[in-house]
Amino acid sequence: MASSTLLRMAADCIFCRIAAGTIPSTKVFEDERVLAFRDLHPVAPTHVLVIPKEHIASTAHAVETHEALLGHLLLVAAKVAEQEGLAKGFRVVTNTGADGGQTVDHLHLHVLGGRSMTWPPG
Ligand code: C5P
Repeated sequence: MASSTLLRMAADCIFCRIAAGTIPSTKVFEDERVLAFRDLHPVAPTHVLVIPKEHIASTAHAVETHEALLGHLLLVAAKVAEQEGLAKGFRVVTNTGADGGQTVDHLHLHVLGGRSMTWPPG
């Protein structure tokens, strides 16, 4: 692992460890900036998490220099949805902070599909 990658990892962050490969995951897509892997507790037939390899705690912690990376995350979410055969549609969710329902403090997009979604979310 490059030292620059190590510097951008947060101590005790489970998603940083998954991104580094020290905790196993079921990967569905990976490139130099992002990783997509299956959620351990799926709430839809397809439930994939797309994370930046760089540690960003949440959407609220993103800054201007993350702009391209944030766009890339969304494009990868769409690529994953296509790869998963979600031609009828899918949902991309980013929970942010306690009231947003965020439980892992490393920014991630949930890609959910394979069933009809309801609105509003709970
Ligand atoms: O939006 P939120 O922060 O709650 O999402 C975290 C997600 O990470 C949950 O859906 C949880 O099932 C998933 N998770 C996982 N593997 C882990 C820890 C959490 O897939 N080791």
